[in-house]
Amino acid sequence: MPKIEQTFTKARAAFTHGKKKSISERVAYMSALRKVIVKNLDTIVTCISKSTGKVGMEAINSDILPTLEVIKYYEKYASHILKPKKKKTSFLFYNHDAYVEYKPLGVVLIIAPWNCPLQLALVPLVSALLAGNAVILKPSEITPQVGDVIGALCHEAGLPDDLVQVVLGGKDVGEALIQARPDKIFFTGSLGAGKNIMSAAAQNITPVVLELGGKAPMIVFEDADIDRAVEAAVYGAFAHAGQLCVAIERLYVQESIFDRFTSRVTKRVNTLNVGTEYDCDFGPMITHVQWDRIEEQLQDAVAKGATLITDITKHGLLLYPVVLTNVNHDMKIMKEETFGPLLPIMPFKTEEAAVALANDSPYGLNASVWSRDIKKAKRVVSQLETGNAYINDVIKNIGNPDLPFGGVKQSGFGKYHGAEGLRTFSIETAVMVNKNKMKREINWFPYTAELLKTVRGLINVLYADIPLREKIIIFLRMRSFIKTLQ
Ligand code: NAD
Repeated sequence: MPKIEQTFTKARAAFTHGKKKSISERVAYMSALRKVIVKNLDTIVTCISKSTGKVGMEAINSDILPTLEVIKYYEKYASHILKPKKKKTSFLFYNHDAYVEYKPLGVVLIIAPWNCPLQLALVPLVSALLAGNAVILKPSEITPQVGDVIGALCHEAGLPDDLVQVVLGGKDVGEALIQARPDKIFFTGSLGAGKNIMSAAAQNITPVVLELGGKAPMIVFEDADIDRAVEAAVYGAFAHAGQLCVAIERLYVQESIFDRFTSRVTKRVNTLNVGTEYDCDFGPMITHVQWDRIEEQLQDAVAKGATLITDITKHGLLLYPVVLTNVNHDMKIMKEETFGPLLPIMPFKTEEAAVALANDSPYGLNASVWSRDIKKAKRVVSQLETGNAYINDVIKNIGNPDLPFGGVKQSGFGKYHGAEGLRTFSIETAVMVNKNKMKREINWFPYTAELLKTVRGLINVLYADIPLREKIIIFLRMRSFIKTLQ
């Protein structure tokens, strides 16, 4: 077990020292980090591919590009986002100023998963640092090499010592880090681990952000661009062998195009290049545990009447894409996160039915809606219980750094990316400045009959629909009372 106490002592010292750095100095570190990432691109891609089984292009798509986008975005906007924000005041707070200021929390613990080991560690890490915090990162025990690479990148970028510390280990190390009382925990991972982390954090009222699993629905209406939708469904379901939290795990297709669409998807799926070579579309599943879960879902689905449209072909951990129809919501495959290369397709009749099916899930992370009628697609999105949605595309909406990202329902809570991404790692202090020079405020002691009359009058002026003449009379009476306070 790494020396947790020592790690926290170093982090707290680095935080205190780092607090003296201006936002432009922090931004300069991030610019350096961005350049170091680009300089070491090939090494990073190779490391991600080797440790996750992800093909090189996928490492670029789901790890490198989103990370660079976020850094570049914050280089431009962080100082504006973290500037104190002026707030409105009402008549009750006459002659006041109000604002919110953003201050660092202290030591942030980031617990990351294996599937996008660079992006899901570096994006919260960069956000927490820009907000002025020190970071302890615990990467997944499955991808410690990527954790080491992150440590090395931060070092090469010239980040101050101990401002970022990478602690390797599994669940037990994660638990010990939580017990050491970080000022915030940013967790990305499975629902089960999220529940344990939330419960452990509750012991010290440590705030948590939970970015958990998903079961993204894709809804295809008959008026969609079918060619694009077929390509998108196949990409959305099978990129990184379906091991993305925002992978398409449920495909709902309008009845009138269902047969045509399903046969087009199947045809396309059969042309996918599965393997570990650089030009393959996707590679192996990460562990046998993953396969066990997939096998269980497949057996359950088939036992309950699902039809396998493709054969189940598996070489070691390389599972070829599996497409199923005749599925329903009694099956695990439509309810539980799969995190593997399966695509169940189900027909729907009406817009209402599509919305009901999509919402019939414990998860709410991402969704995709397809129609040439954008008004209709937006109307559908408005009814979906989801933290994120994409019209006429899949997955890469999460890469827009200006949009807050996070799930609802059992996909977790809390947001990052965009302004929210820096504020989630900040103490938001709401401040009022009273510029009055009166000896007493109207609401202070003593509570007299005259004060009660004045406040009742004020309530009528401010919140009741009384004639203007009456309002003026009350107002004048109030003014003479306030004069007695000068
Ligand atoms: P996981 O939950 O098994 O592990 C994630 C991390 O949590 C690891 O570092 C692990 O060591 C640590 N951990 C596990 N239990 C812990 C505990 N009790 N205390 C402290 N740390 C603990 O997840 P995984 O298999 O690495 O990742 C896959 C899961 O992550 C999927 O469910 C996927 O949907 C989800 N995910 C979510 C998002 C998102 O943004 N919402 C993104 C990627 C992955």
